[in-house]
Amino acid sequence: MASGKLIVLTGPSGVGKGTLVRSLLVRHPELYLSVSATTRSPREGEIEGKDYYFLNKSAFETMIEQNQLLEWAEYAGNYYGTPRTKVEEKIDQGLIVLLEIEVVGANSIKDSFPDALRIFILPPSLEELEHRLRSRKTDTEEAILRRLERAKEELKVSEEFDQRLVNDDLEIALQELEGAIFSD
Ligand code: 5GP
Repeated sequence: MASGKLIVLTGPSGVGKGTLVRSLLVRHPELYLSVSATTRSPREGEIEGKDYYFLNKSAFETMIEQNQLLEWAEYAGNYYGTPRTKVEEKIDQGLIVLLEIEVVGANSIKDSFPDALRIFILPPSLEELEHRLRSRKTDTEEAILRRLERAKEELKVSEEFDQRLVNDDLEIALQELEGAIFSD
């Protein structure tokens, strides 16, 4: 059977990765979105096993030790990581698998999956990123400031990625993303 492929979407928190991915999945339900593990607490409405696998720190560290994660990173005081088995299984079945992850983990994925297509989503500006982080009203002021500081660092490495696209107009960004994913 044809082998599938791995698409890694990354970029600063608040850039709209989640919105892009959700829209992409509506148009292409055959894509498989990996569910990450995290030590962050669930936000209101988030569902275990659908949005994330919510773990405590020691359970997460066991996954790291047992090499059960394709990549992982610490982000804003919590661990986030991609469980390996499901991703490998879906790729073997010939599916296109999407990861929606932060920049450090996305960069490290080239070690475990050299063929992965790594796409960096950029905000139109830092001001717009701050506006988006504030308007989703999910984080405390402290968390927003931490995410903005992290974003400044993340944007510095965007050129190391295979493709970059600016999420200004959602429809245009979506079309560019479709072009990148389905071009070969
Ligand atoms: P949030 O707390 O807003 O859900 O996610 C914070 C950041 O962690 C986002 O940039 C999100 O893309 C990233 N993230 C989610 N899952 C993973 C993962 O499995 N690995 C890595 N490295 N980052 C992740």
